Amino acid sequence: MEASVLLIRPLSAYIQQELSKRYILFKFWQEPPHLRREFLRKHSNSIRAVVANGAQGPDAEMIDLLPLLEIVASHSSGLDKIDLDKCRERGITVTYTPDALTDEVADMAILLTLATMRRICEADQYVRRSEWKNVDFKLTTKFSGKAVGIIGLGRIGSAIAKRAEAFGCSIGYHSRSQKPNSRYKYYTSVVDLASDSQILIIACALTHETRHIVNRDVIDALGKNGVVVNIARGSHIDEAELISALAEGRLGGAGLDVLENEPEAPTQLLGLDNVVLSPHVGASTVETRKVLADLVVQALDAHFSGKPLPTPVI
Ligand code: NAP
Repeated sequence: MEASVLLIRPLSAYIQQELSKRYILFKFWQEPPHLRREFLRKHSNSIRAVVANGAQGPDAEMIDLLPLLEIVASHSSGLDKIDLDKCRERGITVTYTPDALTDEVADMAILLTLATMRRICEADQYVRRSEWKNVDFKLTTKFSGKAVGIIGLGRIGSAIAKRAEAFGCSIGYHSRSQKPNSRYKYYTSVVDLASDSQILIIACALTHETRHIVNRDVIDALGKNGVVVNIARGSHIDEAELISALAEGRLGGAGLDVLENEPEAPTQLLGLDNVVLSPHVGASTVETRKVLADLVVQALDAHFSGKPLPTPVI
């Protein structure tokens, strides 16, 4: 009998089509939220796989409701929405999609940095409002040659560093460990990294240790001309502190692809003109969605045919 797979979010027509060809596909997002627990109970004797993503994954409650669950295939490199401890405890396999989205997310980090510093969203609105004739668009800030601090010199962090170097920027970083082959300056303290940086880019994994890794002390160290860019997870930043620093002019700007309570965006943040926002779309290109979908399908196919997994986590 075909295995049943629970797809939490739509992701792409392509992945739905490919999964439907091979498995019985349950589309979780189509269930009304108040009926989802009941839905899981109803199909608990058939669901053997869950496809998670960067924004939503199986928590302890979902895992408990699915006694036949064997594999969680994440359509992302971030694993913070999956209860990994619970998966370990239950012997559930977890796979993810590292590398495939690295370039896009690093591109997005540079895009948000430039958009924030050069105020490109405001510039666009200025032209559309026919204000160009006033010739009074305010001066913006140069990115090339600035000091960039990166929190998390992993796959995406390294790709950001490479891109920033091409802009003539100096690079410093903070990670759990110093990278022996890196020529970038290593900081054991995020505050020290922020003090020496003009742009601070967050690219680390979200864990208990990295929640609010950008707090008031870090923001103050970055200073009133500094810019924070976050392409990792919203909870890396103490958002209330970020908003007050931006509103009070203690921080220059922020470029945010992720928010603490996404998809909700705080009203105060929306009222600030020194912020550029995007709806967690760092990896959302046509090209990468296809590659991620193929990786997820390959992981499930390998699992259900007893072959080695291409990108295992557990
Ligand atoms: P990765 O290669 O595993 O890199 C993760 C980095 O986080 C490593 O450098 C690691 O440091 C660092 N880190 C982990 N715990 C830390 C701690 N306690 N303190 C400081 N640094 C710590 O992952 P990746 O592929 O680059 O992805 C990074 C993150 O980007 C993902 O976890 C995900 O949240 C996010 N992401 C966002 C999008 C988007 O659409 N915006 C898309 C994909 C991924 P060490 O090297 O020292 O271990």
